[in-house]
Amino acid sequence: MSDKIILTGFMGTGKSTVGMEVARRLDLPFVEMDAEIEALTEKPISAIFSEDGEPAFREMEAELCQELAATAERAVIATGGGTLVVPKNRALMEQSGLVICLDASPGEILQRLDKAGDRPLLDVSDRRAEVGRLLSARREAYGAVPWHIDTTDLSVEETARRVLDLVEATSLRVHHPEGAYQIRMGTGLLRHSGGAARAAGIPPGTRVALVSDDVVAPLYAAQVEEALHATGLHSFRCVLPDGEEHKTLATVAWLYEQFLSEGLDREGVVLALGGGVTGDIAGFAAATYMRGVQFVQVPTSLLAMVDASVGGKTAVDLPQGKNLVGAFKQPACVTIDPAVLQTLEEVEIRSGMTEVIKHSIIGDPDLFRELSEAGRRARAGDRLPLPSAEQVARALRVKIAVVEEDPYERDRRAVLNLGHTVGHALEKLSDFRLRHGEAVSVGIAAATQIAVRLGLADPSMREQVEATLTAWGLPVRCFVHGEGYVRTEALWQAMAHDKKRRGDRLRWVLPVTLGEVTIRDDVPEHIVLKTLREMGAT
Ligand code: NAD
Repeated sequence: MSDKIILTGFMGTGKSTVGMEVARRLDLPFVEMDAEIEALTEKPISAIFSEDGEPAFREMEAELCQELAATAERAVIATGGGTLVVPKNRALMEQSGLVICLDASPGEILQRLDKAGDRPLLDVSDRRAEVGRLLSARREAYGAVPWHIDTTDLSVEETARRVLDLVEATSLRVHHPEGAYQIRMGTGLLRHSGGAARAAGIPPGTRVALVSDDVVAPLYAAQVEEALHATGLHSFRCVLPDGEEHKTLATVAWLYEQFLSEGLDREGVVLALGGGVTGDIAGFAAATYMRGVQFVQVPTSLLAMVDASVGGKTAVDLPQGKNLVGAFKQPACVTIDPAVLQTLEEVEIRSGMTEVIKHSIIGDPDLFRELSEAGRRARAGDRLPLPSAEQVARALRVKIAVVEEDPYERDRRAVLNLGHTVGHALEKLSDFRLRHGEAVSVGIAAATQIAVRLGLADPSMREQVEATLTAWGLPVRCFVHGEGYVRTEALWQAMAHDKKRRGDRLRWVLPVTLGEVTIRDDVPEHIVLKTLREMGAT
């Protein structure tokens, strides 16, 4: 949770009413700066303006900013309309909490102000002209705040909800050799994806190439565009055909053309809105276009949320194999809104669940136990439950810890390949009819069994892992729909082929206990074959 919550913006945008509502919902004290000054001076603001002059009022505001910034107590603060126009006040408030600027159209502002009384700055004959003048005079100052909510068509309750979406978001920081970035996760954050980009240092006026696929774009691109626009970013849309078969250099070349024709320059940003395929293509394009432009991730599939969007790997496929051309490209920020999972097909949820379970086996035994329990509770025939935002965050933390330790995949990061030795071979052998997540699930079951056979893991591990995968609708047998059980020899050959490509020994990531895996390249062939046969291979 953020520290203080500071609402700013032009008069009539709802700072006070929304602030009060947010304070009520969070059970926090509410401070309205104008009311505070009135209480201190025992005069209405209009009297301070007319008797002491605006400069005296601005001085009192600055002093109050210092006071509020110095108090440790968490509170919701509504600033005056002009308070944060002063850079020093803005800096103080930004240091002490989350500053959100409320906006509204000039027409809406006038309508709201007609209902309200005492506004010393609007004590003029032509209010419309004065609102226009003040808004343009303050545009740059308001624009300097990263987080914005356009309240024009929103009720007080809905605006408060949007403030709370931001306040309650989980925030994780990922460090990498060139710096760090923030992952923010929470329901409703899609609407704050512009703010997240701005908070990552992308200035207003920047051009953003919004890359999405033709399934995700109709669902969510408009919301993201609105969010970008509200924070002063200018976007154009590049929609890719959906599917791994389009994760190619030809698609990247098409993107370069779109970027050029839309005038994206070196200061521009590429934003990926979609699953792992979109993220990989857009990320690779961002890494290479004009020798690299900034990259922002808004992952929408479970797999992309817990795995593909974090760690900086991007790639496209060649006819010879998957992910053969790529680059490391760290995002400027990652924004995750789990609400979008509602539209994700069940088979994709299952596929992503493999990664969540995999991460729990690698580094979070409590999460594993929770997932086991949740999977068991799900009734057969019902739609699979979605993992909670908290569970997704915990799975992410495991990945973050690993990629921070080994950002360029030289060593430790290999543990993330749990289930891949058998999984990759099975995926290829099924001609990719078995989804990556499904194949890896079988691979995790195989690795666990091998660990048990080698005496590295307790026999109960096998039962626990298989029961959890099965409870989440994931396969644990060497079986391909429409084809039946795969041949042991063919599977072994496919694994050997992978090994030959890498030019080393067959590498196994084996779970030792929940929360700990080990890497071995000395697993005897007969143990592997026996395990595969026991898992149904013929
Ligand atoms: P995907 O991008 O193809 O998404 C799966 C399907 O779900 C697509 O049809 C997509 O349009 C749809 N979809 C996505 N979000 C949706 C939503 N909210 N509502 C409705 N439909 C939605 O595939 P994926 O499983 O997300 O990712 C797989 C890709 O990720 C592979 O290419 C893999 O190589 C890559 N990957 C990369 C990394 C990495 O570190 N870069 C890690 C793991 C996987």
